[in-house]
Amino acid sequence: MFIIQDVEDIGMAEKKKINYVRIDMPKQPPYIRRRNFKEVALGYTEEMAVEEASRCLDCKKPFCVEGCPVEIDIPGFIRRIASRDFTGAIKTLKEKNCLPAVCGRVCPQEEQCEIKCILGKKGSPVAIGRLERFAAEWEAAQPHMDLPEIMKSTGKKVLVIGSGPAGITVAGDLILLGHDVTMYEALHVPGGVLTYGIPEFRLPGKVVNQEINYLQQLGIKLRCNYVVGKTKSLDKLLDEYDTAFLGTGAGLPWFMDIPGENLNGVYSANEYLTRVNLMKGFQFPKAYTPVIRHRKVAVVGGGNVAMDCARTALRLGAEEVYIVYRRSQTELPARLEEFENAEEEGVIFHFLTLPEKLIGNENGWLKEMECCKMELGEPDQSGRRRPIRVDHSEFRMEMDACIVAIGNSPNPIIPDTTPGLEISRKGTIVVDETTGKTSIDRVWAGGDIVTGAATVILAMGAGRTAAKAMHKYLTEM
Ligand code: SF4
Repeated sequence: MFIIQDVEDIGMAEKKKINYVRIDMPKQPPYIRRRNFKEVALGYTEEMAVEEASRCLDCKKPFCVEGCPVEIDIPGFIRRIASRDFTGAIKTLKEKNCLPAVCGRVCPQEEQCEIKCILGKKGSPVAIGRLERFAAEWEAAQPHMDLPEIMKSTGKKVLVIGSGPAGITVAGDLILLGHDVTMYEALHVPGGVLTYGIPEFRLPGKVVNQEINYLQQLGIKLRCNYVVGKTKSLDKLLDEYDTAFLGTGAGLPWFMDIPGENLNGVYSANEYLTRVNLMKGFQFPKAYTPVIRHRKVAVVGGGNVAMDCARTALRLGAEEVYIVYRRSQTELPARLEEFENAEEEGVIFHFLTLPEKLIGNENGWLKEMECCKMELGEPDQSGRRRPIRVDHSEFRMEMDACIVAIGNSPNPIIPDTTPGLEISRKGTIVVDETTGKTSIDRVWAGGDIVTGAATVILAMGAGRTAAKAMHKYLTEM
């Protein structure tokens, strides 16, 4: 079936004289953007979006949709952009995704919908993410925003804990189905990792605010500065609600457990990004939170968070910024686009390198980093080739900051304060994979607190699964 479809659609592409090359999206030049916090990618104009959308074959069996964790009608919204029905395009998107402006920017489409696009077999796939971003930006620029129809009130009360991507999806889906939804957030502003973890130059705060405003217009209530498990326990809150969803993410940073990690100048990626993004350290002294301007910065790790830290350090004025990663470029988990952006901006990559010791000066500040070289062995459990230490390969690098970006565990507060909640050995909440149901009556969970740190769209997909099951429960109880 796949092959027949392939041939038919590629045949159609030949007939339509489809351009196999996608329309480029303009970006700030590297030598300018490396010193400012403005968004790097500038988005499509209307003309660019229409031209790119016109490449879509509107396939009879669109494989791109299979790759989308929230099942967006991808050919449907693209078709509408191609015919300049931008209102219809955003409406189609929002039927399945309440965060199109966010997803259009930070979702790894190249591993999900775009990798499945039929045009990718002969050239570049349709730029689905860029078109999604265009539709969301077009809507944000309009004087009025159309709100979808909300079903008649069911009188059922839903508690959503955590206002990151998973919680937002649950809240957005359940409010449309007529439930009364309140979203609790531990920080003083909503958005979770979107707000504290992703820098302004990749996802501007105003974009997240627009999406949150939209949810509030739908009627979702928001309570910030409320740490469930500290302010009040989940047990007690369940007396006030019919169901609850746990989406508190993975915010507990891992460290390397090497000598010197307590020196001044050593940060977790979470601390560094939270200071700069959430607390607006990059605007100091206009904003109150200071952030030290380091000269030589090493970021340990190879994911998107590591790229974000390195690029942030450059923008704060660092002279030299290094990514130190124990595997090779082939195994780098960051999106290719983020790796290329970092490289263009001047980040220096030390592959097959592992930090072993951090060395301080007499005042307790980091001054050097001792590393060793690695080589790759056989694949490990993750399927990636296992890094092996090369004996006698130690070397030192002068460094005044080290940012550890090697991953996070789930936030432990709710698991630690909720008797009966089943937790895995890794600290994640155990759920039924098909529904997101936890071991506790009336409680569902999803996103990074279940999977460990993953992507925005996977968290949203988990939120959608849980929302369906919660709705079924609420309407059948
Ligand atoms: S985006 Fe690609 S796979 Fe999806 S409908 Fe268009 S051409 Fe087909």
